[in-house]
Amino acid sequence: MRTLVAGLVGLLCSALSANAQDTGLFKILKLEGHQVRWQAPHNGEPRVVTYRIVTEQEEFAGARNCRKITRFDGLMADSNVTPAALRSELAAAFAMWEAAASISFREAPEGTQADISIGAQVEAEGWAFADVFYDTASPLPIKPISKALVCLNPLRRWKVGFDGDLSRYDLRYTFVHEIGHAIGLDHPAGGGDQIMGYRYEERFRALQAGDIRGAIALYGKPRQATLNEPQSSPAGTQAQPSSARRFAKRWGTRGFTARSP
Ligand SMILES: [Zn+2]
Repeated sequence: MRTLVAGLVGLLCSALSANAQDTGLFKILKLEGHQVRWQAPHNGEPRVVTYRIVTEQEEFAGARNCRKITRFDGLMADSNVTPAALRSELAAAFAMWEAAASISFREAPEGTQADISIGAQVEAEGWAFADVFYDTASPLPIKPISKALVCLNPLRRWKVGFDGDLSRYDLRYTFVHEIGHAIGLDHPAGGGDQIMGYRYEERFRALQAGDIRGAIALYGKPRQATLNEPQSSPAGTQAQPSSARRFAKRWGTRGFTARSP
């Protein structure tokens, strides 16, 4: 199995901007030229992807930015975020993608392997990253994702909600963005106006039209397709106008890397 990394890397956008699937609103992640996604069962049901917040330090051979991840305890303590709040924000982030396309997420039962493991970086850098592993031997035209990791830098300061202070990132926004990578989306070339954009900003806290189109391109419409593309963010989630147009620096600094363990 080959390991590839989809970090929060602005460089990736420019490097792959010629991708035909880059509509400007969304971009399908390509790893070594392959699209990837969680493989759906053959019974027409949505793929159920399991996730888990790690409960002890774990090491993932071949991963890049999330090679060693651990519990969120230190991150939560330093940022005054409760475990219940963090779990709630993570669940809300998964729920957004679940509402957008035919893919479902469930917390993995105790003692079982999860498809997506989530935790704090042991070797802190950047802000947040996702590592995506896929099955290179698969004959499928879109290769199956076999595992994904999401990690946050515990030395940064995190929060719940927007307040215009771009030196602290909102957990929900961050989780939504990283989960987007973990299901096969890249940063759209425009870089803004979507949660999958490469900049952290506080203008909207829900998936945008391009984010949703990207998820549908990979997984199809949700089975109960009642969701229309949002006209605007839900009330109460908008940042203050005075801060709305300021952008934080890019989320990550590393270039795209590929490794073959
Ligand atoms: Zn990113």
